[in-house]
Amino acid sequence: MKVAIDGPAGSGKSTVAKAIAKRCGLTLLDTGAMYRSVALTCINRGVALDDEAAVADVARSITISFEPAEPVQRVLIDGTDVTEAIRTPEVDRNVSAVAAIPAVREALVEQQRAIGNAGDVVAEGRDIGTVVFPDAEVKVFLTADPAARALRRAVQRDGGDAAVDAKATADEKEVATIMADLIRRDEADSSRKAAPLKPAEDAVHIDSSNKTVNEVVDLIVSLMEEAR
Ligand code: C5P
Repeated sequence: MKVAIDGPAGSGKSTVAKAIAKRCGLTLLDTGAMYRSVALTCINRGVALDDEAAVADVARSITISFEPAEPVQRVLIDGTDVTEAIRTPEVDRNVSAVAAIPAVREALVEQQRAIGNAGDVVAEGRDIGTVVFPDAEVKVFLTADPAARALRRAVQRDGGDAAVDAKATADEKEVATIMADLIRRDEADSSRKAAPLKPAEDAVHIDSSNKTVNEVVDLIVSLMEEAR
């Protein structure tokens, strides 16, 4: 079975996808981590992000892999652990430019399909239901209001999880900075020509602003049961 979860940054996709993978025994495919890995490698190698051919070469030349671990699965580029390094504000600022390059998407979508076709998978990203796995049995478009999304990201950066701890708080200034970045990234991701962020026609829309992780997971698991 393939479960596709798309939506804007901070909508809770990662937390929800991880919980579904664990509960239902599916492979977890975090496609955002792959775009982040390409952006990080370009930054580290001094590759200009507007040099589309050079960025695409990077996407084709690196091997991105995932290793199961708690509390989060590890992300590796050519065997080196970059789990934390791909989540810095610098990568946040630069990843959308990398993801807008069609040749980069082509290279990563090929790897994503290879992982998905090897077994049951829950994949999260922006174009899973529309481009990567249009045949997914379950498609969800997960949203949340910007303030809720920014707070979750800020708490996550401080090592917590607002989706689990309803009372979690974070520095107001940091939340405002993150919210501005999320809104800018959503705009870039939604307006680009190549595989823009948009719901698949047959996706089920879920607004997670006022829902707990468990409520969202229960909803998606019931969609999976209906699809079986
Ligand atoms: O999900 P995450 O916030 O880690 O994604 C980082 C960025 O990667 C997004 O802002 C988007 O530009 C890009 N992305 C994408 N297509 C995907 C997953 C992520 O373009 N399937």
